[in-house]
Amino acid sequence: MASHPHDPILRLPKADLHLHLDGSLRADTVLQIAASEGIDLASRDEASLRTILSPPLDPPSLERYLKAFDVTCAVMQTRHAIRRIARELVEDCAAENITYLEARFCPSLLTLGGLSVAEVIEAVAEGLEEGERATGTMARQIICALRHRDLHEGVELAEAAVALRSRGVVAFDLAGPEAGFAAAWHEEAFRVARRGGLWTTVHAGEADGPDSIYEALHTLGADRIGHGTTLVNDPALMAWMIDRQLPIEVCPTSNVQTGAAPSIERHPVRSLLERGATVVVCTDNRLVSDVTLSHELRAVASAAQLGLDEIGLLLRRGFSSAFVSLDERRRLLADFDAAFASLRAGS
Ligand SMILES: [Zn+2]
Repeated sequence: MASHPHDPILRLPKADLHLHLDGSLRADTVLQIAASEGIDLASRDEASLRTILSPPLDPPSLERYLKAFDVTCAVMQTRHAIRRIARELVEDCAAENITYLEARFCPSLLTLGGLSVAEVIEAVAEGLEEGERATGTMARQIICALRHRDLHEGVELAEAAVALRSRGVVAFDLAGPEAGFAAAWHEEAFRVARRGGLWTTVHAGEADGPDSIYEALHTLGADRIGHGTTLVNDPALMAWMIDRQLPIEVCPTSNVQTGAAPSIERHPVRSLLERGATVVVCTDNRLVSDVTLSHELRAVASAAQLGLDEIGLLLRRGFSSAFVSLDERRRLLADFDAAFASLRAGS
């Protein structure tokens, strides 16, 4: 599907539910902050920065993909920089008519400059709120614990996330290298998050088999699954998720770059859609994967040969799967339905 002004994917309101703040910076912002703060990134222009950040594809691996975050996190260590990056993310999303987003990050990676975890979350909140006021795009936070880091740190992050719910923190997530780092180790952190009223999502079935998804659902009580590309290898578990309409956050280009899928054409998203799974297409990392949400949606629509009504259903699921209150979800869905009806009437 070609990109043009009448492209329904560009025109319709969209939600991005799986979006890493520290993987979705503007390239020129990375360079500007590095220059003003005297940070040596071994690159002074956008082309060489993109070369450093672009995931090596031979062979692709999640561990190698995650190396880019050493670079991006280096320029996210001050309140001013974090706030700017959060605000710009909302502006960039709004520019492609994303009207709701959930930005996720691990605050512990952004405390090397002396900020506390709470100060990092507050700086992100300030940036997202500024972006929201300027664009009308609603932006919320998901706090990530990392699988390979200290378990106590995960519990502290969950406590901080709960304490800052009033600043737009809606959910808790588990990210980082998957194989060899069991989700179950973080059971206590997820108990704290759930007891504190947060939603939960877990990166699972991306670099490990469906047992990892099982553990995320049954041990951590995940409300959504991030990636879940190996779910198709366990038909019983897939049926279990489909019966409950539990959303799967699918990030096609990122999955190819990490080796979780051989190509977008052969991505399991097609099987998931055919079976009626609650698929939500997301970007993962706008900078590191070099994608937009419109790009990802077009790629899926093309690979799965979706018509306009099916595209509408796919986009609608982004709003119905949002970690918001029932009233907010109804409003987001009503806005989407009105935009879709208007597009249909004009097409
Ligand atoms: Zn992710």
